Amino acid sequence: MVHLKKNSQYTFERYLEVRDQLDDLDNPFLLNVLSELAQESWQELYGELLSFTNKLSTEWRMTVNEIARPENHPKLRHYDAYNNRIDRIIRPAEGVMLSEEVFGEGLFSAERLPYEGIVKRYFLHGNGEAGITCPIACTDGLIALIEAFYEEVPEEVKEIHTHAKEGRDGDFGVGAQFMSEIQGGSNIPANVLQAIPEGSHYRLYGNKFFCSAVHADYSVVTARVEGTDHVAVFVVPSYLPGDQKNERRNGYRINRLKWKLGTAELPSGEIDYDGAVAYRIGPEDRGVALAVGIVLTRSRLDIGFASAAFVMRAAREAKLYARFRHVFDRTIDGFPMAAAQIDELESAAKRMTATAFHLYKMFSEQEESDELQRFALRELILLQKIYSSKEAVDQLRLAISLFGGHGAIEDFTAFPRLFRDSMVNELWEGPRNVLLTQIYRDFAKLRQTVPVVKVITTMFPHLSQADVQQYSSRIEVIIGIDVVEAPNPFNKMAAQNWESLWGELFLSFQYAVLEAFEEQPIVREEVLKTI
Ligand SMILES: Cc1cc2nc3c(=O)[nH]c(=O)nc-3n(C[C@H](O)[C@H](O)[C@H](O)COP(=O)(O)OP(=O)(O)OC[C@H]3O[C@@H](n4cnc5c(N)ncnc54)[C@H](O)[C@@H]3O)c2cc1C
Repeated sequence: MVHLKKNSQYTFERYLEVRDQLDDLDNPFLLNVLSELAQESWQELYGELLSFTNKLSTEWRMTVNEIARPENHPKLRHYDAYNNRIDRIIRPAEGVMLSEEVFGEGLFSAERLPYEGIVKRYFLHGNGEAGITCPIACTDGLIALIEAFYEEVPEEVKEIHTHAKEGRDGDFGVGAQFMSEIQGGSNIPANVLQAIPEGSHYRLYGNKFFCSAVHADYSVVTARVEGTDHVAVFVVPSYLPGDQKNERRNGYRINRLKWKLGTAELPSGEIDYDGAVAYRIGPEDRGVALAVGIVLTRSRLDIGFASAAFVMRAAREAKLYARFRHVFDRTIDGFPMAAAQIDELESAAKRMTATAFHLYKMFSEQEESDELQRFALRELILLQKIYSSKEAVDQLRLAISLFGGHGAIEDFTAFPRLFRDSMVNELWEGPRNVLLTQIYRDFAKLRQTVPVVKVITTMFPHLSQADVQQYSSRIEVIIGIDVVEAPNPFNKMAAQNWESLWGELFLSFQYAVLEAFEEQPIVREEVLKTI
């Protein structure tokens, strides 16, 4: 008789125990960054964060893992039994409850401590549930857009603002943003969705082809005003007052939900508008500038945080696993190749995290800046969107490989999900080439009045004079070649140099920001010893 030999003694228990008990706030490096950010309100903020990350790193993380399973992905029901078109978005009960709990935190409320909302959002990103973090970013943009014109918006919009920011009887309004159309998402000025004025509001007719968080209560929508060349920006309620209980949507249909590479928990729809009531925000001819300057800027900052939080989670869990798992004669981190890769992951997590908070602080304090400093900040936000989202994909791939085959198993680690979501972060809110081209145009225009050397010194104060000169000359040369006209051998090479040049500069910026915090570890040695 043949006896089957099976290693049934092998267990991952110790690794899981340590991983699942490790609080996201138990991170010396991060505590240092956050205390520097919050300054005098740090002690109070720390108290708030303790209970928040305790839930987030345990209960909520388990719930998120459940929501991420394919059988729980959102679905769309077009009709009820009585032939009424409802376009109901069906999300798992756990997802709806978690969403309500997270929004119930009132992240945007005036009662929150300085930076409390953004720090909590960073932690939420670490759980990798785009069905929650995407609508939070969109709600941020919705609130900021309304606040920019608060005195002049109609009463209905003021109500929307209160609902999203402070809540109504504990229920908080959720935002979305629909700008992309089928003929091009990057080119918002080419929008064809029509807005027809009707009294104090407008009505929308046409299609939006990428509509994430389609379950939201309100959306920020760009559309062309009938009979003009103007693309304006609007706030559109998903239901008009009294219609939500009957699921009668505000003059639009959701044609389908997209089947996506990543952010699978987030319902992304395609919408046909047929007379939706819309409230214009700001001047009719400034819609694109407002949508980009107010709404997309916030989403781009948010992508910096998402990328940093994904890599931080990956680096911490990879460190634990590499200390736990034996391969051949030692643990994974006992091999120089793996040890160097873990160092690289840790360094990336630190660079990206420190930079995301640094830029957010600059953004929050920009009222005190002059015009050139504001230009510098705008470009740095674009650079972070480009290079952090790109690096997150690379670092997640590395983290997966450190886990070997287990790295590819969806319920062994969250890395496959974070990897796919990182790919999406590269694409939405402006893909790489669009943003690199934007930077090119910005520099080509500004250099007519401000020397490039001065701009580079303002953006990268850590650089030596020699480096400033060297980079400024390279920028001048590329601008002289023109990478926007039709391709030829010279401008193709110049375009490649443009991308690598900014990559180098942004990396050096990250290292300079990191300098003050570098020494601190992301996992305490005592924790690693327990594994
Ligand atoms: C999962 C997911 C969810 C999304 N959700 C939303 C949403 O909720 N709301 C919303 O409005 N949009 C959403 N989008 C759309 C996203 O913002 C667009 O896909 C993106 O803006 C790019 O538009 P596009 O897909 O039409 O690509 P295109 O604009 O066709 O671009 C294609 C390629 O051309 C390049 N390119 C375009 N213009 C230029 C230029 N001037 N110079 C150089 N290169 C250029 C781009 O970099 C890209 O590589 C979502 C996308 C995804 C993947």
